Amino acid sequence: MELLNGQYRFSGDTDPLQLVEKYGSPLYVYDGERIESQYKRLQTAFPVKDLRIHYACKALTNINILRLLKHLGAGLDTVSIQEVWIGLKAGFAPNDILYTPNCVSMEEINMAVEAGVRVNIDNISILEQFGHEHPDYPVCLRINPHINAGGNSKISVGHIDSKFGISIHQLPHLKKVVDTLGINVEGLHMHTGSDILDAEVFLRGAEILFQAALHFEGLDYLDFGSGFKVAYTENGVSTDVEALGQSLSTRFTEFCEEYGKDLGLMFEPGKFLVSDSGVFFAKVNVVKTTPSTVFAGIDSGLNHLIRPMFYAAHHDIVNVSNPSAKPRIYTVVGYICETDTFGVNRKISDIREGDILGLKNAGAYCYSMASNYNSRFRPAEVLIHKGKDYLIRERETLDDLLNKQIEIPIFA
Ligand SMILES: *Cc1c(COP(=O)(O)O)cnc(C)c1O
Repeated sequence: MELLNGQYRFSGDTDPLQLVEKYGSPLYVYDGERIESQYKRLQTAFPVKDLRIHYACKALTNINILRLLKHLGAGLDTVSIQEVWIGLKAGFAPNDILYTPNCVSMEEINMAVEAGVRVNIDNISILEQFGHEHPDYPVCLRINPHINAGGNSKISVGHIDSKFGISIHQLPHLKKVVDTLGINVEGLHMHTGSDILDAEVFLRGAEILFQAALHFEGLDYLDFGSGFKVAYTENGVSTDVEALGQSLSTRFTEFCEEYGKDLGLMFEPGKFLVSDSGVFFAKVNVVKTTPSTVFAGIDSGLNHLIRPMFYAAHHDIVNVSNPSAKPRIYTVVGYICETDTFGVNRKISDIREGDILGLKNAGAYCYSMASNYNSRFRPAEVLIHKGKDYLIRERETLDDLLNKQIEIPIFA
């Protein structure tokens, strides 16, 4: 998929306007070829003996996307028991699923054990309970190295007062619990935040994990989480995975020698694999000129794509219907009854009512964060695979909104 003369190009030259015609608006479209090329890029970037790429499925949970990644050889990273169940339904072997919960109940962790998936624990008190209840079940330990990898405050999780992980400063305590209860630690994990821009910072965190790993015998893998950043604008910054891959792989191989065993090198990318495979298409309902601003109001809102409002995230916006017209300045807004602005003062080619706009980087944390706010239907999702388009989720209907509601007789 690329932006060509202001037009979107999906693999097989699928015309986005025809897709919107066929499936309606608004519409999420994902290009499977792009997901595959991102996956292969990561694979090539880390030349180690045992690389394990686990797709962090909270980014985009459609079961077909999970299966596509499974076909490519990925494992799965899950953060809830529901994601575990979807992963199993998608056909992942329990062994290829890592469950990394935070602040969940022991009951939920027990369900993950029942499902047979790998369990990542990020809290000493839970680890103690776990050790008592499941003395033989192997665990991974989520360590917080307190390296701040950047990103915004909502996604950065490595700072000192973060709720995530077991602080590296608690290593002696952790070690005591593990030894006393005879817990089988199979992996160590860190996930510091969502944007790695600086390989040096990342390597500093990795070094802390290596040093911690020397305290645990019988490890099977080290999991470095994610934080691979993709560009959200044409010249936007992204993680140089090739450079990171070179330096980390060299250091990792060296560490394995020191440790005396070839460990698995694990990553859990979400955004990197799916973000720029996706485009969100919406129709312009109104063009409204006020004394200071020209608004383009689309048939969507923060209910369908909340990242700009929630994270102040930037999504490039293009006019797919009128790509070569003269650009003008627009503020693109939604139809929700509160401020829901997708982009302020954007240069977009002349917008007419009825035009279709495309919002880029709509693969990760877009549909998966969508809601029914204002009682709107969530959109349909389409996957392009080998040049053909497949509907992978229907647009919702009124039945979906009313489905779980119970009408009590008093008011009927
Ligand atoms: C969200 C999450 C990821 C994926 O992060 P991205 O920025 O989408 O790559 C990986 N691991 C864990 C534990 C997460 O919570």
